[in-house]
Amino acid sequence: MSDMINKILKLKKEKNAVILAHNYQIPEIQDIADFVGDSLGLSQQAVSTNAELIVFCGVHFMAETASIIAPNKKVIIPDLEAGCSLAASITAEQLREWKKEYPDAVVVSYINTTAEIKAETDYCVTSSNAVKVVEAIPRNKKILFLPDKFLGQYVTLVTGRDMEIWNGACHVHEKIGEVSFKESQDQHPNAEFLVHPECGCSSSCMLKSKLYFDCKSIHIYSTEGMINYVKSSDKDEFVIATEVGILHRLKKIKPSAAFYPLSEKSVCEYMKMITVEKLYDALLNEKFEVKVSEELAAKARLSIERMLAIV
Ligand code: SF4
Repeated sequence: MSDMINKILKLKKEKNAVILAHNYQIPEIQDIADFVGDSLGLSQQAVSTNAELIVFCGVHFMAETASIIAPNKKVIIPDLEAGCSLAASITAEQLREWKKEYPDAVVVSYINTTAEIKAETDYCVTSSNAVKVVEAIPRNKKILFLPDKFLGQYVTLVTGRDMEIWNGACHVHEKIGEVSFKESQDQHPNAEFLVHPECGCSSSCMLKSKLYFDCKSIHIYSTEGMINYVKSSDKDEFVIATEVGILHRLKKIKPSAAFYPLSEKSVCEYMKMITVEKLYDALLNEKFEVKVSEELAAKARLSIERMLAIV
């Protein structure tokens, strides 16, 4: 394996390439990568890097987002089959039909969407800025929120806005919703709970906290929010409710702390499709290129720029 890693590092230098890896990638990929982060953070790295070739170790919509905002660079993904159940939960045709039902509504899409969906969107959002972006939209406007129902419920709860929510979900985060929070709290009474807002458990936790559940040690964070929280926290026990891949990065940041996944089963098969062998092959043969046409990218870029102007 170390031989292959050396070959990757050599090729990377020869080709002036950069390797970007999402927080949910396997540990070996995270360790080789130049940058590890969430989808928007990585796309922003794609813009700021001097590298000409970007190897995106994540899923397809993320490589597309990088191609949208860094159109002059070559973006490749080591496995074209690395998709996303959440991004696949709505098609551009379905969105156009939905918009016809609410012609005056503002369309807000989570970044986990295809380029076609972003091109039909007014504002793109990430889990860390969704509340802020929605609050910046005039209050008299109805909002169509897609594709994630859990993030949509969470944003509705926090902002109290008039929102229609698409019934989409990530199969990984949906699974976490079935896990008993109370059971995990009993097992780890001193732990801080860091919950991703896509998880079914976060919106239900918020509802419960208003009614009877003690949620004081539960924090809703995007993946980058979790990283920042752990860096600044003096606590040494954390339960993490999102895809298990992030535990590798958290352990590197704070080796002295204990991290427990809320559910061992929260594994994204798509994210785990990228292996060191596929990364080597991708770099060697500069495949598989992900290129969004300039016409589509220009429309899609607008929704991302509107978001960035607010946050
Ligand atoms: S964890 Fe869910 S949202 Fe993230 S890439 Fe996998 S399927 Fe998509």
